[in-house]
Amino acid sequence: MTGQLFPLLLLLLVLGFLVGGLHASAGDADPIYRTCVEQCEKTGNVGDMSIPHCLFSSSDEAVNNTWYMQEPLYLQWKQLNCKSDCCYHCMIQRESEREALGLNPVKYHGKWPFKRIFVFQEPASAALSAFNLMMHFVGWLSFFVLVNYKLPLRPHSKRTYYEYTGLWHIYGLLSMNAWFWSTIFHTRDFEMTEKLDYSSAVALLGYSLILSLLRTFDVKDEATRVMFAAPILAFVTTHILFLNFYQLDYGWNMKVCVVMGIIQLLAWAIWAGMKRHPHRFKLWTVVFGVAIAMLLEIYDFSPYGGYVDAHALWHATTIPLTYLWWSFIKSDAEYRTAMLVKKAK
Ligand SMILES: [Zn+2]
Repeated sequence: MTGQLFPLLLLLLVLGFLVGGLHASAGDADPIYRTCVEQCEKTGNVGDMSIPHCLFSSSDEAVNNTWYMQEPLYLQWKQLNCKSDCCYHCMIQRESEREALGLNPVKYHGKWPFKRIFVFQEPASAALSAFNLMMHFVGWLSFFVLVNYKLPLRPHSKRTYYEYTGLWHIYGLLSMNAWFWSTIFHTRDFEMTEKLDYSSAVALLGYSLILSLLRTFDVKDEATRVMFAAPILAFVTTHILFLNFYQLDYGWNMKVCVVMGIIQLLAWAIWAGMKRHPHRFKLWTVVFGVAIAMLLEIYDFSPYGGYVDAHALWHATTIPLTYLWWSFIKSDAEYRTAMLVKKAK
């Protein structure tokens, strides 16, 4: 009954995303902003502020000019920071000019203008990402303890009764990896950290899609698992290569992620209803919570007070959902184990 409602709700969500998902950044198209960044990178000045990272000493130049010397790492690091600092200070300057003219904030390079705290570019999102990382670690650890030490093991092989143990371990690792890079990316936004964050997120989403299909279709033998996984794996790999080496297309990536997300939410929700899984209410809460949280990404308001935007709130909502999600995974392991032990007797 409730299972019937989810497809409709989620279909509406997909449509909402496909219409609202494309973001062009008005901020970095602004010629005044562009000129400011160009000037800053050359002179190391924005208004009357100077950017220490953009001031290269004569000894830096000398090293740089030697034909047989690779550009030293610290110089590359300095240039990276110079560009990032210039973009940041030009953005802040441009935004205050725009505010004085009574204009609303606009996005720069796909992101809202945030105020930094120390080195933290988006302090709220960075802290919340770290919190998510911790929640996944705690969830995964308690799952590990449950299946290995609390639940009975198969008498001969000493392996767990639960058939999806290994798959959830990989899921735990990929989740922690994704939140780790999310923390780094929200702390310091460079091209490299951005690509690592996007790639890890896509890898996690693609993998969890495979896992959701394997669990909801009760796929247990290796050959069929490979058959399910191969096309998705091929697609996800191609998509990651496309983002990294061809074009980091935010609009297209958003569509890919939303479609992969919706399919797995649907699979879980319908399966739980059809199988009358004893812990379906936990699962439905997570599915519903994620669907609602995704609305935040659609609504996508500008940062409140310069710190908290829709994206940060989306990272906040996933914290309790992560707890509930691992709780469902553990319940599923207990439920399957109990069934298999009963069958074996
Ligand atoms: Zn994020």
